[in-house]
Amino acid sequence: MAACPLCQHPIVIAEFDVDRGEIFACPSCGEELEVLGFDPLRLVRSPPEAEEP
Ligand SMILES: [Zn+2]
Repeated sequence: MAACPLCQHPIVIAEFDVDRGEIFACPSCGEELEVLGFDPLRLVRSPPEAEEP
């Protein structure tokens, strides 16, 4: 289990069925998080997509 880097909401990765490098949304704050690794579990805020002008 890890905590959301933004809101510290505890996240159980098994609920999301994601692989390394995948992006999912925090169920609490909705921020998109990227899975960096599983041992230990590391989550980072996903960089925003470049916006079209
Ligand atoms: Zn969050």
